[in-house]
Amino acid sequence: MSASPFPADIFEGQRFAVVGLGRAGLPAARALLAMGAEVTVWDDNEAARRAATGLVVAKPHMAGLAALVLSPGIAHRLPSPHPIAAEAIAAGVPILSDADLFFRAVRAAGSQARFVGITGTNGKSTTTALLAHILATAGIPHAAGGNLGTGAMALPLLAANGVYVLEMSSYMLERLAALRFNVACMLNLSADHIDRHGDMDGYAGAKRQIFARQTAADTAVIGVDDALSRAMADAFPHAVRVSEHDVPIAGAPTLPGAHNAQNIAAATAMARALGVDDATIITGIETYAGLPHRQEHVGHVAGVDWINDSKATNADSTARALACYDRIVWIAGGTAKEGGIEPLAEYFPRVAQAFLIGRDAPVLAATLAAHGVAYRDVGTLAQAVSASADWVRQNEAAVVLLSPACASWDQFTGYDQRGDQFRSLVKGLA
Ligand code: ADP
Repeated sequence: MSASPFPADIFEGQRFAVVGLGRAGLPAARALLAMGAEVTVWDDNEAARRAATGLVVAKPHMAGLAALVLSPGIAHRLPSPHPIAAEAIAAGVPILSDADLFFRAVRAAGSQARFVGITGTNGKSTTTALLAHILATAGIPHAAGGNLGTGAMALPLLAANGVYVLEMSSYMLERLAALRFNVACMLNLSADHIDRHGDMDGYAGAKRQIFARQTAADTAVIGVDDALSRAMADAFPHAVRVSEHDVPIAGAPTLPGAHNAQNIAAATAMARALGVDDATIITGIETYAGLPHRQEHVGHVAGVDWINDSKATNADSTARALACYDRIVWIAGGTAKEGGIEPLAEYFPRVAQAFLIGRDAPVLAATLAAHGVAYRDVGTLAQAVSASADWVRQNEAAVVLLSPACASWDQFTGYDQRGDQFRSLVKGLA
């Protein structure tokens, strides 16, 4: 890794503890060190501790700590605080997200680069990547990361004309003290992560933090396609209200469906607030390549399109994909979520044939049987791909869609490995 472009004395004389050494924590610890801080790191997992080469690994003492940087995956309130978080709270040590420290570092380095924050239950990554691509199209220096891709503290230092685009999870939003977003967006709200936020009010409250510290000079963008988000918009009268019904172009090639229309509308409003003209915004939307595993087109084989939607790990996400196509050969299964695929019944008439994989295939099979949908339990993804190819060679279909509506842990290391395997299996057919 190249040397940090940040001044080496930004956090001089300050002590930090970084707990949880994942994708965000480890680079945060190294960046803090490079910026002059004293850093102690900890992870309950021994392999993660071993990866922290060159860092002081120990359970942190709270005395004199400027802040505890806690991985978003580790709770400090509900369902129960991690013991180190509980110690920090008792000692009055602030618990901060890496994004908050990054903001301080950028300002301390003398840069007035603008910050954009994007949150919502669904569509965060897509909207973040789309806005970054529009900024690239406009030739505006930018860096995107946070919950998506590069951890916030590993982003480069941009000058005043630069724009940071940060994807913000509700967990990160709960741990901000200084970060002020020049442009902030809340896309949508539906029940999620209630174990960590207590109830919907708690969850919405965390999401609302994206607008904290904004001034009249800043822009708030709120999606108004669900009732909870509309209620939030009503509480921010100055907010730009966006809906899936007001997109500047229809039918962007890599962004199908009403849900993506919402993402497009939000990215458009933010790009306008950042000074990008509409012609450039439209070019950006049209040339956006899409993110892997989210309705990713991975081939045209045996006369049909093959779509990798492996990121759809619950019924709600799969509904978005099923709504986009007719005569679908549907590959689903894995570790089922509460409620299974029953909520998808309204889309079953679009399914010409289903191939089921993974541990909970029998659970999905029972639902499909009850609704008269043709299915076969084929066990593995490799079997599902070859069975799908055989099927579409003999029958009419528009797409083969991997949109599992299930977690992948029974057969894969994650949704990305599942999607990567699907992509290479399809390439193998061609
Ligand atoms: P996140 O980063 O919030 O998890 P992604 O952009 O990665 O969101 O999209 C994940 C899945 O959520 C997509 O595959 C799609 O099924 C669904 N989705 C995307 N955008 C939206 C939206 N605006 N509203 C509802 N669902 C969406």
